[in-house]
Amino acid sequence: MEKKSSVYGNVCRQFDKAADILQLNPDIRKILSKTNNEIIVNFPVKMDNGSIQMFTVYRVQHNNALGPFKGGLRYHQAVDIDEVRALATWMTWKSAIVNIPFGGAKGGIQFDPCKCSKGEIERVTRRFTFALGSNIGPEYDIPAPDVNTNAQIMAWMLDTYLSTMPAHERQACSHVVTGKPVEAGGSLGREKATGQGVVFTIQEWAKDEKFDLKGATYTVQGFGNVGYWASHLLKPLGAIMVAVEDVTGAIANEKGIDPDDLGEYVKKSGGVKGFGQAHAIDHKQLLGTKADILIPAALENQITAETAPLIKVKLVAEGANGPTDPDGDAILQKNGIAMLPDILCNAGGVVVSYFEWLQNKRSEFWELEEVDQKLLRKLVNAYGRVRDTAKQYKTDWRTAAYIVALQRLETVYKDRGIFP
Ligand code: GLU
Repeated sequence: MEKKSSVYGNVCRQFDKAADILQLNPDIRKILSKTNNEIIVNFPVKMDNGSIQMFTVYRVQHNNALGPFKGGLRYHQAVDIDEVRALATWMTWKSAIVNIPFGGAKGGIQFDPCKCSKGEIERVTRRFTFALGSNIGPEYDIPAPDVNTNAQIMAWMLDTYLSTMPAHERQACSHVVTGKPVEAGGSLGREKATGQGVVFTIQEWAKDEKFDLKGATYTVQGFGNVGYWASHLLKPLGAIMVAVEDVTGAIANEKGIDPDDLGEYVKKSGGVKGFGQAHAIDHKQLLGTKADILIPAALENQITAETAPLIKVKLVAEGANGPTDPDGDAILQKNGIAMLPDILCNAGGVVVSYFEWLQNKRSEFWELEEVDQKLLRKLVNAYGRVRDTAKQYKTDWRTAAYIVALQRLETVYKDRGIFP
């Protein structure tokens, strides 16, 4: 695979390692080394002060051999084509690992939504949805929430998309986005799904390792949707959060930080900084905090050659996409730290997106227990395959997860052949 800088460069290195071990068919390797489509659209938005600002939306569609392109949409000042390309490619592997009929895509707009009003964010959302036009669609490419996007943004996207459809087709298109508010066709359990998946995979690992989660300690890097829900769901299992970080700072308390109290505090204050039950620490201290589990749940490239040596946990459970780069990975492996890789550990989000999509298509509404049970089954199966593949190929879990995905894609390409 051609080497690109930064985040996509990480994907290339991970892919090459797995493809070599698997001895992936060279033609299929060529296909999967490239993204199918890369759409870049510049569009104007009227800001609150009356001025016009230009924005750029990236939508990268990596592969759709297994089903429609699928993946989230990110609003962040660091978004660029390299990052979106990487995130789209990871979505292809993720959908393949959990065995859902989707391909991989990702979108992003490079801006800081914290500096915009709600009205400005709504206008950005509606205008780019219009600009993307038929590049997205319920059976073609289905966006969902990601960093700094949520159910409200999906509702605006849905409304804008449907407004451009002929009236008689609108009812049949609500599955054009997932992660919608429940009242607007969303699924119960979707909001917590990524965090729930992180916890389900941690529980599977704990079972295998005969490790008791009751009284186990953990740290969380990133306290957005995934970090909050993972810690909220670990609390009833008796696990104790001892340090946590978000954009406002890092805090620690070895006796424990209550995730629900912290969640309430963050709603009011906008971040973890200054939370009464803990003292301030810095980023490196957070990564170096002695605990059993570290859950990176923020952005890419947090665990690198520089920071990996600080980490002293038993398990890293990747709630974020791409938090560990290949150099960081090698150090964690050398230090005997177990890894639940992102494309397995955080796949709960896209699994419940698939359930939402199915409910919309069938005009069904599933109870939360049903969603949770089906999610658990998907993740337990995927976890088992990755674990067994790691043993079979005597390799690390990230490479094993890639092998599971690549085997599935290889089979599909062999069955279908290449047109013409
Ligand atoms: N953004 C989430 C992810 O990275 C969810 C994607 C989806 O539901 O389509 O997995």
